[in-house]
Amino acid sequence: MTTLHGLATARGYAAGPVFIYRGDGDIPVPEYIVSPGAEDGELARLKRSIEEIRKDLEDLVKVVRERTGRSDVRVFECHLMILEDEFLCGEIEKRIRSRHVNCESAVRKVFGMHRAQFEKMNDPYFRERVRDLDDVERRLLKSLTGYRHNPHLDLKSPSIVVADDLTPSETVQLPREYILGFATNGGSSTSHVALLARALAIPSVAGLGNITSRVCAGEEILLDGTNGTVTLNPDTATRSSFGRLIEQQREILSSSTFASPAGTLKDGGEVKIYANIHPGVPLAGYSELGARGIGLYRSEYLWLNRDTEPGEEEQFQAYSEAVRFSKQLSPTATITIRVLDIGGDKIPRSVSIKESNPFLGNRSIRYLLTHRDVFRTQLRAILRASTEGRVIIMYPMVSCVEELIEAGKILEQVKSELDSSGIAYDKNIKTGCMIEVPSAALNAREFARHVSFFSIGTNDLVQYTMAADRGNDAVAHLYQPLNPAVLALVKMSIAAAKENDLRIAVCGESAADPVVGTYWAALGVDVLSMSATYIPVMAKVLASLTRADLDEYAKIPDSLPPGTTADDIFRACHDWMVKKLPQFGDLLA
Ligand code: PEP
Ligand code: MG
Repeated sequence: MTTLHGLATARGYAAGPVFIYRGDGDIPVPEYIVSPGAEDGELARLKRSIEEIRKDLEDLVKVVRERTGRSDVRVFECHLMILEDEFLCGEIEKRIRSRHVNCESAVRKVFGMHRAQFEKMNDPYFRERVRDLDDVERRLLKSLTGYRHNPHLDLKSPSIVVADDLTPSETVQLPREYILGFATNGGSSTSHVALLARALAIPSVAGLGNITSRVCAGEEILLDGTNGTVTLNPDTATRSSFGRLIEQQREILSSSTFASPAGTLKDGGEVKIYANIHPGVPLAGYSELGARGIGLYRSEYLWLNRDTEPGEEEQFQAYSEAVRFSKQLSPTATITIRVLDIGGDKIPRSVSIKESNPFLGNRSIRYLLTHRDVFRTQLRAILRASTEGRVIIMYPMVSCVEELIEAGKILEQVKSELDSSGIAYDKNIKTGCMIEVPSAALNAREFARHVSFFSIGTNDLVQYTMAADRGNDAVAHLYQPLNPAVLALVKMSIAAAKENDLRIAVCGESAADPVVGTYWAALGVDVLSMSATYIPVMAKVLASLTRADLDEYAKIPDSLPPGTTADDIFRACHDWMVKKLPQFGDLLA
């Protein structure tokens, strides 16, 4: 038995035979010099292929819409943009004309040069975009050479898909009903396969290095997307305990077992459970999973993966769509739209930020306050969409009260502009801010005078408190949501919210961890907001506990002796949970 360790990119457990996805393999690409005068013919071929692919992509968009019930289509719109990119096409044409080469050769060369530029970038987001370029290049080469191999058609029975990495097109073309899980050599938590896997509740482990060469097709493996491991040649005992986990998971995820709205405690008390969403992720089935509102709409995804900034109208459409969607979750559902949180590891192509330390740079609210036209446009679009439902505006990465005051002034100016033009918006719209920088938690009492609610972004709060990059494996041991320093900051934020009658949420990933999220609930947060596929487990955990249980749970860290570490706290909380809720077994890992 061998256990491979990778990145846990989508929670859940799967056991089954391996399907090795080898993609299209190497497309045989002819490269030759064309006879003088034949260049126009080459360009006509290129044009025909572009047309054919455009049609394919448009068909694919339809398929994705049908399969996911909504519109996870931005990635394919991005592929259409690459395909129609004048600069890229111009370079291919220039190469055909000046070097007299066939179009396959020009396509390969020009895409190769662009790929090399992307690969040099330090930013994981941009490196991930190499997959998009590859995807479009393969489509072009397949069309130009008439290569017809569709590896996704070979997946005909339920299997764990093992691949080097998967492009977005490959991921959505695989038949969902046969995918038990994903295990890839490469990939990251921001990759499309990870996003889709989470949205579709498919367990996934990435960054396994060389799994494709360690397994054989058909071999039975165990995939643990919660802890990021894959077990090869499992022994009988491991196999059967894993089988029990899968059974538990199936039982917990079956939505029919929901007796009352997610977040209802055993004694009828409540901790609201909302979903985190962003443009481009399929939203079908959120209601069945138990989401009762949207606690975090990451608007910055509208800026990513494209060359130009979205205008007011496009933003308005996107926000309105999300607001209408939120109303389907519950008639009183709120949707918290977070204004542009760019910078750090999220830098759109349309924005030129070059900083040596982007996580501490001109990001998020700081960027908006220094790019007021962008801020105003976004606020106008959000305000206009606010007539469709119950919208809350949230400011990210606020580190001092001046930023809140300034943002509030700009919001008031934008409201007056709308008033003078007779444009409707929700006059009672509320604003809130993220607590994700230690200074915000330390100043929470002061912040509370300027907003109506707080949302604790533990992803960043832990990173900034511990000075440990949230995406760096080498310091992952320091990334401790239950470190006493983080707990002190969370408690200060909750106390400030309670004293000032503010609602307080946690919308970082830790909200979805049964041990940690329950602790936030026990400390008194009103809302836990998480990826929708994680809601059922959290909902069932809360449904099994009373407020008195939560009060007891809240006391655990304080009852430990001085010198307690984050690990001690986690262990003590975990042990309490396992004793209290034995039926959840390893799902509490
Ligand atoms: C957070 O920091 O916890 C958060 C929710 O924001 P993001 O993950 O988008 O930075
Ligand atoms: Mg954050």
